Amino acid sequence: MESIRNTIDGAMVDPIGGHWIENVEPATGAVCGRIAASDELDVQAAVDAAERAFPDWSARSAAERGSLLHHLADAVEAETESLARMESIDNGKPIDLARNVDIPRAVTNLRFFADAGVGSRTETHVTEGAAINTVLREPIGVVGLISPWNLPLYLLTWKIAPALIMGNTCVAKPSELTPVTAARLGELAIAVGFPPGVLNIIHGSGQAAGEAIVTHPRIRAVSFTGGTDTGARIATAAAPHFKKLSLELGGKNPNIIFEDADLDTALRMSLRSSFANQGQICLCGSRILAHHAVYDRVVESIVAGAKELRIGDPLEDTTQQGALVSQSHRDKVAHCVDLARNEGGDVLCGGSAPGDLPERCRGGFFYEPTVITGLPMDAKTNSREIFGPVVTITPFASQEEAIEMANATDYGLSASIWTTDADRIHAVAAGIEAGTVWVNCWMLRDLRVPFGGVKHSGVGREGGEDGMRFFTEPKTICEATST
Ligand code: NDP
Repeated sequence: MESIRNTIDGAMVDPIGGHWIENVEPATGAVCGRIAASDELDVQAAVDAAERAFPDWSARSAAERGSLLHHLADAVEAETESLARMESIDNGKPIDLARNVDIPRAVTNLRFFADAGVGSRTETHVTEGAAINTVLREPIGVVGLISPWNLPLYLLTWKIAPALIMGNTCVAKPSELTPVTAARLGELAIAVGFPPGVLNIIHGSGQAAGEAIVTHPRIRAVSFTGGTDTGARIATAAAPHFKKLSLELGGKNPNIIFEDADLDTALRMSLRSSFANQGQICLCGSRILAHHAVYDRVVESIVAGAKELRIGDPLEDTTQQGALVSQSHRDKVAHCVDLARNEGGDVLCGGSAPGDLPERCRGGFFYEPTVITGLPMDAKTNSREIFGPVVTITPFASQEEAIEMANATDYGLSASIWTTDADRIHAVAAGIEAGTVWVNCWMLRDLRVPFGGVKHSGVGREGGEDGMRFFTEPKTICEATST
């Protein structure tokens, strides 16, 4: 049975307390390994190692640190196929998605920040006739990185790379549901020559290992991606320590299709944005809003498309919908669909576990792609994040109503709008409360732009210069030029 060990001080080690958690394969429901059930003792060992490593690591040039990140990227890329297989087994996602999105994006994250950190700017401001101010961006020290299960290696490297390139040392915790690729990343970091203690990876539950990171007094900053409720808990626990916090949280993203849209493209992309990764992407467009002139066609097309998606063994190349990440998550999604029925929604397709699965997957946590109509915007189904293969479709009559409906949730992560009217693009984008508005596209990502949410979708921005600056403290040196 495979054991997922911690990476601490340049070695793969068992949890100090000797406790382990079972790792379950979502596609089969069977136990496939065990995971270190770490606690504050393991976090302490990781913090000690990270503190020892910090002076040397932060004194190196960005180019030296970037070179190691490039070596790590090369090592990950060389193992794309086996890492994709691990991710698919651990998470339940189709291997095709892991192979073409998750692992390549992890490689890109490492390479992007390796180069961006070298090019990062230093500001100077001249106070005329008096002084020159130079703003240094100094590393913070030991930082905590906590990531979710939906895009495991993708989101973990999205935090590790900017933290390391700016000269910090890390204590990272992936989700206990999907730790396998993170553990392999730890091994690869050791193999390519990262100094001991620079990158520590702790496995275990959020409540034991995660909270020990958040409350550790010598971890000066925490970058977290996960659910909004967990984010609130982390903000509360971190507040007495005055920690720097970056919170990337949930979404309930509107996907607005206007009557003048290029409908073929809008419908093809909307099917993807509704159900990619079984709807378990924070950016999924879980609320389709369709102008009443195209509403019937939108409903017909999304329902037909959802029915055609191939559900099956995630390890098959042709599978388009794999398993949900855990039994409890599948139960939560099923409960949300029951709630939609009770609220008066019409479940037009899906709404249950699929009957026809390969033998190997009979005990897996699958759920059919589900389309629901007939609910107002203030229904719980339209305002709470479900984070599964469930989309609602709701008609609107005017641009103003579409904006009002888009904003009728506590979330504000992203939105997509589909229209060919240039004036409308700007008016609607300006009216929507979200960190990102995609126009005639979805999930098109340029790693240089700020990424994050407003309202309950988060605090702060990752990506590009914003992502790197989070992992620094600015220090102004004001030097008099005349006395
Ligand atoms: P959770 O909030 O349950 O968990 C996220 C991470 O936090 C996991 O590593 C988890 O550990 C850990 N954790 C849980 N409780 C605590 C705690 N009290 N203290 C410290 N750490 C803790 O989110 P999910 O993993 O369920 O991910 C899904 C959520 O993530 C969705 O809401 C989704 O929208 C959001 N998300 C947001 C993104 C964004 O960029 N805005 C991107 C991707 C997802 P463990 O799992 O081991 O318990």
